Amino acid sequence: MFRTYKYRLYPTRVQEKTLDFLLMQGRLIYNDALEQRLKVYRETGESVSYPQQWAHFRDLRHAHPDTLGRLNATSVQQILRRLDKAFKAFFRRLKAGEKPGFPRFKGCNRFNSLEYRYGDGCKLRFSGGRARFYVQNVGEIKVKYHRPLPEGAQIKHVILKRRNRRWYICLMLELPEPAVIKEHPGPAVGIDVGLHHLLALSNGETVDNPRWLRRSLAKLRVAQRRMARRLKGSRGWREAAYQVARLHERIAHQRRDFWHKFTRKLVDTYSLVVLEDLNLAFMTANSHLALSAHDAGLAEFRQLLAYKAESAGTRVVFVNPAFTSQLCSFCGAVVVKDLSVRVHECSFCGYTADRDVNAARNILSSVAVKSAWTGPPGVLGHGVAVPVQRASPGKLPALAGRVVTCAPFGVK
Ligand SMILES: [Zn+2]
Repeated sequence: MFRTYKYRLYPTRVQEKTLDFLLMQGRLIYNDALEQRLKVYRETGESVSYPQQWAHFRDLRHAHPDTLGRLNATSVQQILRRLDKAFKAFFRRLKAGEKPGFPRFKGCNRFNSLEYRYGDGCKLRFSGGRARFYVQNVGEIKVKYHRPLPEGAQIKHVILKRRNRRWYICLMLELPEPAVIKEHPGPAVGIDVGLHHLLALSNGETVDNPRWLRRSLAKLRVAQRRMARRLKGSRGWREAAYQVARLHERIAHQRRDFWHKFTRKLVDTYSLVVLEDLNLAFMTANSHLALSAHDAGLAEFRQLLAYKAESAGTRVVFVNPAFTSQLCSFCGAVVVKDLSVRVHECSFCGYTADRDVNAARNILSSVAVKSAWTGPPGVLGHGVAVPVQRASPGKLPALAGRVVTCAPFGVK
């Protein structure tokens, strides 16, 4: 099991200057390596591989101990690998018929992190109850150690990063696998995720969309206008740009905080959570929905739910959302209604409920759920729906083998 723990660093002024210097060196290496690839290709038509670049920059590093040489060797390797990845992704997407952007030269605000292998040029140290983070050529930096590392955790990689003038370390941890997966005693719940009600639960609860971004739009507008009035690149402009970035960061924090608390509550309460398998790419491509969908941070919701569920022993099932809003969750009749109709009112059995709550109840009663509930995790019974691996298993690695997709009740 892998987890990332993030801590804030409080470097002194001198340390901060050195950190900035190291980032700048990293950026230069990235840009030089990109230049090298372009140049060789122009002249010979050949492409340069990662090992060739590493050999080149390793020598360069030895030749310039006061500049490049101050960067840790593995950090340099990681930078070259990053570029290699960018190229590979570019060609892969090109082959797939997409329109990828070509790897770009990085400006001074576009290169904000360095990677380390833990123990090689960096180390977390404790003395007198205080934590400090040692970085090669920078020294020991004060850390706000706001929570201890989980027991048995091994630090694998470290990402040292700068964001809006603040410094952080992200510790990538490997945790021991729990010997037995505990059985969760809680009930099951279906959730309809939408834009009117952000969430509707099958038990009747609804959560309205807090619209974090929309609420802050007025403030953002003022800050963005101030930035636009100033001369680009000037001191005043930089200050205004910083204010804009900070506002965006705050909105992201509010959103993240909400989803952390909500997903925590979900996995503590329920042993089975059933969600629609929405196509997020489709939603964000639709310009009417895009702002709200981004604002809601639905992708973040899934991500947080997935990893919390894994530790809590909660099962998460995604079902095909087709017809969930049109069926009556009480009698199964089809009650056609367009998006503007907010209340489900069944003309057959008289069942009346909020539109989204009705959909959540349908989601919960789909075939996939019944079998996930009684049968072995991830395998569907009833012989109706076939278990399908999620299209992008990379997104939810923690739940591999436990996440299933199938058609809702009554649809083959
Ligand atoms: Zn009905």
